[in-house]
Amino acid sequence: MFSYRHAFHAGNHADVLKHTVLIAMLHHLTQKEAALTVLDTHAGAGLYRLDSEFTETSGEAADGIQRLLKPTEGMTLAPALQDYLDLVASFNSKGNWRIYPGSPFIIQRLLRGHDKLKLFELHPTDTKTLMANVEQLEAGRQVAVLREDGFEGIRKFLPPPARRALVLCDPSYELKNDYARVAAMATEALKRFPTGTYAIWYPIIPRPEAHDLPRKLKTLATKAGKSWLHATLTVKSSKLVADVQGETKRPGLPASGMFVINPTHTLKPALQAALPQMVTLLAQDRHAAFTLDAGG
Ligand code: SAM
Repeated sequence: MFSYRHAFHAGNHADVLKHTVLIAMLHHLTQKEAALTVLDTHAGAGLYRLDSEFTETSGEAADGIQRLLKPTEGMTLAPALQDYLDLVASFNSKGNWRIYPGSPFIIQRLLRGHDKLKLFELHPTDTKTLMANVEQLEAGRQVAVLREDGFEGIRKFLPPPARRALVLCDPSYELKNDYARVAAMATEALKRFPTGTYAIWYPIIPRPEAHDLPRKLKTLATKAGKSWLHATLTVKSSKLVADVQGETKRPGLPASGMFVINPTHTLKPALQAALPQMVTLLAQDRHAAFTLDAGG
């Protein structure tokens, strides 16, 4: 069974990148009247407590979203980062950062009444929590929680009725096979629904599959004649570090990327302004950096 629980990582630098991209695209996609279908292949629990035992042990939000609360002097946050911060703030009472909304709640907050959201989650505890959290929304048939494999499950919803869809694919990559499954899912989804927007998060770690994934996705998008955008955010070196006992250990997730096929045209300028600020605010050492490429 899966051991990954997003509660340990909620609000970390990877969430800052992923959720900023997600919000920026949803703002644009919900401008057009026609209904939008959003498929979240790996939904998680939906809501996280920043003061729970999970998040407190790892403290990842402290080096993530909470650093955005103290912009460096003279810095005005880029609109995409401000939108992200405002959306998370709207789940909290003023100045009291207790709740972090995961992708299901971020998405639902930005949808209109006629849009649809399908949430896939396999972990038994997280599925139960997600269902209970979603019930509180009283969103009726707008939101569906499916305890199914997200890679497979999205097939039946593509193409969507109004031919407008955003797919967020955010696996935990606990299983090495997840990298290959992401590429296979994108290949098939593009065949079923070539005009959908596909946003894929991946970790940048010293593992061949992690390095190959964005290259594979770029080849895939290019061959299909689709536009793409690739953004990465590094907050620290990936080199092994020595702990107080002098033992070497991995430094925790140093970097991650978002690869988007058929991105909204507003995404690139939004990230051009936001990524340098993410680097300034989230840097943990001198290796902090970003990349932003697009094509097609
Ligand atoms: N997207 C969430 C967010 O941004 O708040 C975080 C998701 S977390 C990185 C990945 C989740 O995928 C975990 O909760 C895990 O239990 C779930 N999971 C793992 N394999 C899955 C699969 N094949 N289908 C659906 N969910 C899966």
